[in-house]
Amino acid sequence: MDRHLSIGYDHAVRAQVIPPPEYVDKMSEHRRDREIVFDFMGEHDTSPVDLITRRYPGIAILKPFNTCSQICVYCQRNWEIDEVLDPKAMAPKALLKNALSWFDKHKSVGDILITGGDPCIMKDSALGAILEELAKREQIYRIRIGTRTPVVLPMRWTDKLVETISRFHQPGRREIAVITHFEHAYEITPDALEAVQKIRKAGMGVYNQEVFTIEKSRRFETAKLRLDLRSIGVDPYYVFNMKGKEETRRYMVPIARILQERKEEARLLPGLDRTDEPVFNVPKLGKNHLRAWQDHRLVMILPDGSRVYEFHPWEKNIKPVPPYNYIDVPIYDYLEELAIRGENIREYRTIWFYY
Ligand code: SF4
Repeated sequence: MDRHLSIGYDHAVRAQVIPPPEYVDKMSEHRRDREIVFDFMGEHDTSPVDLITRRYPGIAILKPFNTCSQICVYCQRNWEIDEVLDPKAMAPKALLKNALSWFDKHKSVGDILITGGDPCIMKDSALGAILEELAKREQIYRIRIGTRTPVVLPMRWTDKLVETISRFHQPGRREIAVITHFEHAYEITPDALEAVQKIRKAGMGVYNQEVFTIEKSRRFETAKLRLDLRSIGVDPYYVFNMKGKEETRRYMVPIARILQERKEEARLLPGLDRTDEPVFNVPKLGKNHLRAWQDHRLVMILPDGSRVYEFHPWEKNIKPVPPYNYIDVPIYDYLEELAIRGENIREYRTIWFYY
């Protein structure tokens, strides 16, 4: 963030960590039952044992460490995190052992994401020990490390951390990939470049997931981020449509806009710069590709202009999940918000054709 009020370049960065008043009110109102109220993605239903989440047949999430180097307002798991850099964030040994042994009984799970909290806030030795355990499982062919440290704590990428992680990256046998989260081109700094290059020189790929908030949904902001990411060695990977979490309504963008961006702005870039995919994370189900018409359909428009989408659950192969109905943000309300931010909304007029 800029130290002084800037001309608005850091707006998306500020919005990421400074919550609006209604968000704070809702959080404090549900201080005691936040685990239930804010579990939008249904983590409780998709967690076979503590510390593991599984929404797809071949993929699982491992959450050994419960804090981050920053806490994002729109994070789907921030209700699980007590404090930034919480000293008691490490999962108890017995729980971790139990979670790791779950992989012995589920041999079809070969791609593991270690994530949020941020595994790179763990001590090198603790992270190394978990990787060592996972590497013993023959079926695990990829371990992804979900971390925002290249952005907010790039000095964390010491030679020792790179060595701790990269010794498990064995081409042809097992891939280690770093999945990070640059949200805005304004976050790309010389320090971040250095951290990314260190990781890449050790042979590991660095991929980016971004969240399509209203602040960064203005024309060409995401296209600029993709361009700058590639220039420092990061592959754009997913753009997440904001979830329907009520407390983050102020951040939300109509699905039509993410599709418009993908079609009209991203297409101006060379293919390598626009390799990512717009997705909608459906509760209990996971990613639906918004460009795939097979995954969702528009079923009605409400009197206030909100479009209602039905997301199909047919990728689910673990247990039956009903279709998910999503009431989107009214496009007109969204355009008015953009106008408040100084945008010429005539430039967005083809938005109505996207669904
Ligand atoms: S860094 Fe990632 S896991 Fe941590 S709060 Fe932000 S989005 Fe959530």
